[in-house]
Formats: sequence, C-alpha cells, structure tokens
Amino acid sequence: MNENTEHKNPIHDVSAKETGRVHSFESFGTVDGPGIRFVVFLQGCQFKCLYCHNRDTWDLKGGTLYSVDDIMKKILSVKTYIKSGGLTVSGGEPLLQSRFVSHLFKAAHAEGIHTCLDTNGYHKGREGEMNASIKSAIDESDLVLLDIKHMDIEGHMELTDQPLATSLEMAEYLTEINKLMRVRFVVVPGYTHKEEIVHKLGAYLKDRKNLELVEILPFHKLGSVKWEGEGEVDPLKDVESLKKDDVQYVQDILAEYGIKSKL
Ligand code: SF4
Repeated sequence: MNENTEHKNPIHDVSAKETGRVHSFESFGTVDGPGIRFVVFLQGCQFKCLYCHNRDTWDLKGGTLYSVDDIMKKILSVKTYIKSGGLTVSGGEPLLQSRFVSHLFKAAHAEGIHTCLDTNGYHKGREGEMNASIKSAIDESDLVLLDIKHMDIEGHMELTDQPLATSLEMAEYLTEINKLMRVRFVVVPGYTHKEEIVHKLGAYLKDRKNLELVEILPFHKLGSVKWEGEGEVDPLKDVESLKKDDVQYVQDILAEYGIKSKL
C-alpha cells in the first residue's frame, strides 16, 4: 500500500461514532488478559464450539448497538481501576466487527489504555482475505489472545465446525508481524484431553518469538445454562469438568518444548 492510499483509508481516522453490536460488558475482568480489565463482549461468532460458554453471542444480528464514544465513556469512568490492565475486546468473535474494534482500540490508545484482542483467529473478510480493517484491529492490539482449539484437522472441525487453518493462519500472521500473543487452549475430555494433541501444540508453537505464554483452560460446564436459554441442549452436558490437577500434564509437556504456560 503506498502512502497516498494509506492516507485515504478511512480507518486511519478514529471515529467516535462508529458502532458495534455488543453482547455485554464486564467492568473489572481478571481472566481476559493481564491485570484488571474492562471487557467488551461483542456479538456474533462464526465458530460453533461444542463447549461454548457464550452460546448467546453467536447471532451477529443480536446484541445492542453502541458507539465507540458510548463505550469510551464507560471505560473512562473506571480508568483508575484498570490501570494495571486495560481494555479487552472479546466475544463472540470480535474480528467479525474489525472496523469497530480498530476504532475502539485507537480511542483507547489515545487515552493511554492497553488493548487486548481475544480472537478465535477469524481473519478473512468477505473478500476471502485479510482486509485492512482486520489488519488495523490487530495493529492496534497490544496483545492478542489467540484460541487454538484443537491441533487435529478433523478434531477441530468436529469441535468447532470450522477449519483448523483459520486459527493457524492467524498464528502465522501474528508471528510474521511479531505481534505479542498468548495462546489459549481449552482441555476438553474426549477431544483435546490427550497427550498427543498437546505434543502437536508444543511442536507447533516452540521457538515462536512472539509467544508470551499458553493459557491452559480445563473444561468446565458453566455455559450449560446459556445453551438452554437458546432452547438447545448443551452438547457436552454429559462431559465431566476437569480440575487443575487433571491438566498439569499439559504444562509439563509444553515445558518440554520450552514453552511457558499458566494454569
Ligand atoms: S469461538 Fe468462542 S464464542 Fe465462538 S463458539 Fe467458540 S467458544 Fe463460543
């Protein structure tokens, strides 16, 4: 892209009026990125993870419209309390509304607020490739939390209804531009609760200079009620939750590949 085209691209100007479909807010989140964070959960997701804890975020037409300005007012009202952290945009899948995320993160940066993007790796716009607003949203992220949900092609499809390549291509892009990333890996009995899958993950991630750490998340059943709320049966209702001790082996295996992780 030459300088002239870049200058004309509207996403380079922060628009306080840009709107996004929001599912909900959390003012003092402690699990979606470092420190205490204001978390915006955006509406819409193209994945259909069997263990989804936010089943009610899937419909892209749902949620409530908020402008960047509306959300910045909320964030600034708690700015003192989120000094140790910042702003996280999660979902659903935030990059389905990448233009909005880009503007929101720019507005947050203008206030000196750290930004974190929680994504499943969605990166192809309607054109079938990574468009300028997705790149801009990533550029404006100080940290990307990338979900890698499975390391097996068929297993990934079974667990999420989407190809593994979606997340891995995003991992490649983040490495290419040296963007700081944390990988999130949910350990699900019958799906990813397997040493061989963790070895594949370790081999894939080792030596990536942009990888901060892997967050190991034992499967739990807290999302069941949301499936019921949508008039559906939780597909993993009969699967038992895991405890930290059950997944200690994941940390041990990743350490063999020189990968830092947290449980
Ligand atoms: S990517 Fe996240 S929000 Fe989307 S289906 Fe999976 S767990 Fe749910």
